[in-house]
Amino acid sequence: MCKLFFRNIILLSVVGCLWWAPTATASADIVARDIRIGIHKGKTRVVLDLTKTVKFDIFALADPYRIVLDLPDIDWQVPAAAARRTGGLIAGLRYGQYQPGKSRVVLDLRKPGIVRRSFILPPGEGYGPRLVIDLKKASRKVFLASIKAPSRASSKGQAAPKFILKPARKTTEAPLVVIDPGHGGVDPGAIGISGVFEKRVTLAMAKQVRRAILSRGRQRVRLTRNGDTFIPLRRRVAIARAAGAELFVSIHADSIDNRKVRGGGIYTLSERSSDKESAALAAKENRADLIAGVNLVGHDDEVASILIDLTQRETMNYSAQFAAALVPELRQLIHMRRKPHRFAGFVVLKAPDVPSVLVELGYLSNRRDEKMLTSSKSRAAIATAIARSVDNYFKGQKR
Ligand SMILES: [Zn+2]
Repeated sequence: MCKLFFRNIILLSVVGCLWWAPTATASADIVARDIRIGIHKGKTRVVLDLTKTVKFDIFALADPYRIVLDLPDIDWQVPAAAARRTGGLIAGLRYGQYQPGKSRVVLDLRKPGIVRRSFILPPGEGYGPRLVIDLKKASRKVFLASIKAPSRASSKGQAAPKFILKPARKTTEAPLVVIDPGHGGVDPGAIGISGVFEKRVTLAMAKQVRRAILSRGRQRVRLTRNGDTFIPLRRRVAIARAAGAELFVSIHADSIDNRKVRGGGIYTLSERSSDKESAALAAKENRADLIAGVNLVGHDDEVASILIDLTQRETMNYSAQFAAALVPELRQLIHMRRKPHRFAGFVVLKAPDVPSVLVELGYLSNRRDEKMLTSSKSRAAIATAIARSVDNYFKGQKR
């Protein structure tokens, strides 16, 4: 009783803190043509080729070591190979939209390093303006000392998403399904064998699922993102709850070193993972915020406090019911993994009151799976199967 009261206080005290509809990337007038890495004696140089001079902000994040470069809205026309460039201190890099009107580059460091210099090189030598960052190796102590609190501007929107009390559905309204295309913006997700980004595959699939559900006419649909935008994991949950979703479906596609591994899987939340593989997958997907350079330091964890109530078995049972409806439908189209329904602690599935599943449609690292997921024909068939499962699930709820 007391616990329930406490939970309502938490939920009520944050009413009205969050709502914004993610929109497609606005057409930016600054174009990024390439991101290059140069290795020099004593320094690693990262160069961003631009068409216009920009204002930028750089900060560091620890554990893992990252350097984050914040920029205005950028039209990313860099070659696909840029996302795979590494060298010197750089173990990996990502770029893309972070928030509407704001772009970001995240550099993963192999070891601690600090920004020695950062500047704009004026146009010349056949290039437009270039943003240059010189990094040099440092001790962990020096790296940690280099972390300053992000400026007010760059920390805006990074606060933990607030939860809003779920509005009750008017009985005349059709149930709302929230489809969540995994990743987006600065977080590309898995990278396929041909270089396709998971974020694009999931968005195309989500839009197709929306069409398929709407064409059946029995549920309403909302997407957590409609464009190539980064949305923190907890905000995805908050969007579903604020909108009064009755079902949340997060769409993903994995990638693995072994290119022979293929097949889809459906995951629902559990405090205990059903196996090591599922636990590893959840840990990987839960890294999305880290990958996008969200500063998680100092977040008090509303999700954690809500997790206490995750003993809300009812929601978990409903999630499992939807997973059970989905398996046979998908099995007709997709090669499913052994034990297609598994359990793990995915952050995105942690709404206490919205039945939620995460679908891994296959492996982009496998040629056949990638081909299937990038073909509009098989995408349409999969979307229809998902829409049918949604329908069957809600039919099963009516008693
Ligand atoms: Zn994913």
